[in-house]
Amino acid sequence: MIEIQNVRKSFGALEVLKGIDLTVQNGEVLTIIGGSGSGKSTLLTCINGLEPIDSGRILVDGTEVHARSTDLNELRQKIGIVFQQWNAFPHLTVLENVMLAPRKVKGMSKPEAEAMAVKQLEHVGLGDKLSVYPSRLSGGQQQRMAIARALAMSPKYMLFDEVTSALDPMLVGEVLDTLRLLASEGMTMICVTHEMKFAREVSDRVAFFHQGVMAEIAPPAELFGAPKSPDLQKFLAATA
Ligand code: ADP
Ligand code: MG
Repeated sequence: MIEIQNVRKSFGALEVLKGIDLTVQNGEVLTIIGGSGSGKSTLLTCINGLEPIDSGRILVDGTEVHARSTDLNELRQKIGIVFQQWNAFPHLTVLENVMLAPRKVKGMSKPEAEAMAVKQLEHVGLGDKLSVYPSRLSGGQQQRMAIARALAMSPKYMLFDEVTSALDPMLVGEVLDTLRLLASEGMTMICVTHEMKFAREVSDRVAFFHQGVMAEIAPPAELFGAPKSPDLQKFLAATA
């Protein structure tokens, strides 16, 4: 599980995370919603150790992410992260792009990495695009490739940061379907999203971030059906 304990983080004078406490259980799907600048992305990058924290602790399966003794490369293999956009290597095929990390980071043999990459690309519905170059994919297909690339490392946890935000509305559905599939398979996921319908349908719990504070967290029916804080009420009214 992922345990976030009283985490604080500032960029210069700006405190971006003001004491976040949150535990994500194995198999749980947590979505994070909230306005721009509320600290959502920062939290994700702290979870996989891309960003240091100022105080508090983050534990992944009991390992303290920011402890000096922690092997971050090893830890990150457990935690897949997918962003709004991923720039694939343009001179490599889709298959070769997805094979790269298993080869380089995990030291897999070429046939082993290829088998894994094919499996994950099929999983996200790109089994017919193996030998295509990334520039030939639609935005939605590119995001599914990015998801396959993360899955090829066999992560235990997946973090998604607004993976549909850069897409044409027409292409959002296919990517959300992929996330739904992973959720239905029991993947432990934290999804930052603006897709309220998705959050409502897929999440076990939804967390609302506001100005660096986790202002509210509840199962979706409760959070959307009976928002408690005025800030969340305002946010939901604005996104409706
Ligand atoms: P969100 O993902 O909720 O939109 P972020 O976590 O990206 O919010 O950002 C929270 C705040 O931290 C914003 O005010 C942003 O400008 C600031 N911030 C994020 N990353 C950096 C950085 N690397 N350096 C300085 N300020 C940053
Ligand atoms: Mg963000």
